[in-house]
Amino acid sequence: MNYLDGMLREGALKGKNILITGGGTGLGKSMGEYFLELGANLVITSRKIDILKNTASEMMLNKGGKVIPVACDVREIDQVEGMWKEAINELGQIDVVLNNAAGNFISPTERLSTNAFNTVLDIVLKGTSQVTLTAGKDWIEKNQKGVFLNIVTTYAWTGSGYVVPSAAAKAGVLAMTRSLAVEWAKYRIRSNAIAPGPFPTEGAWSRLLPGDLVKKFDPAKKVPVGRVGEHQELANLAAYLVSDFSSYVNGEVITIDGGEWLKGAGEFNNLDQIPKEMWDMMEVSRGKKV
Ligand code: NAP
Repeated sequence: MNYLDGMLREGALKGKNILITGGGTGLGKSMGEYFLELGANLVITSRKIDILKNTASEMMLNKGGKVIPVACDVREIDQVEGMWKEAINELGQIDVVLNNAAGNFISPTERLSTNAFNTVLDIVLKGTSQVTLTAGKDWIEKNQKGVFLNIVTTYAWTGSGYVVPSAAAKAGVLAMTRSLAVEWAKYRIRSNAIAPGPFPTEGAWSRLLPGDLVKKFDPAKKVPVGRVGEHQELANLAAYLVSDFSSYVNGEVITIDGGEWLKGAGEFNNLDQIPKEMWDMMEVSRGKKV
């Protein structure tokens, strides 16, 4: 067994119907594949129906189970409500919502148009809140228990230059996660979040850091454990948080980044660039024998 293996026991998600926004690509797809392996059925949703349909066929072929592709722009409440109705019609009920859809631009903030800034806020914050409210109201009305898992990022609490609308929106999603964890626990609705560090995907990497940029700003170099994340590692954590094994985990955000954000935060952490000989010299100059 190692970190590339699935962690939960066979059938751990049997009988669960899980809706994943942004489920046709990247991390949403990888988490979905593992949920299927564990016995869940899925609704995957995003704007591009062709991609969703291809992913759904591929997933069912490789992993079994049922995968329903539904087109929906999470910024549009009519589409969100329509998507939710279709999901219920297809699977009878949804037990888990994984809010994973996002948009992002890397840019000096002063170069962003109002429209670009708002687009990111609309997908990430408004989109997540619209999906969450639609699902939550329905669960409460039907007296049905439910689970939200929201994908944020570590700069939701540190902030980050050059991705300011994303940082602001993810911070809002994190606040919503914690707020609803308390307010809706009485309805048997849990809310948690995952903050991933760097995990290679087309969306987060090739589009955000095109060409040579990804080599120049190699994200692995900032990670204390010396590598980027493997999708299975994230899928293991997500599967645990949507499963009944985590029934007592509520209002939590779990970081999975190999220590990346703490490395940036600790005042002296970059002293690992000092070679052994220089440490020896410093000890000598302090009067300690090497
Ligand atoms: P990705 O493949 O680009 O995933 C984003 C998904 O969101 C796409 O499937 C996209 O599909 C969907 N989407 C975008 N706009 C939408 C809209 N208006 N309505 C509905 N769906 C929409 O990138 P990823 O790396 O897997 O990212 C997944 C999540 O992980 C995001 O929340 C991201 O912030 C988070 N994250 C990723 C990393 C990383 O290193 N990869 C690190 C930290 C956090 P359509 O284009 O078809 O709509």
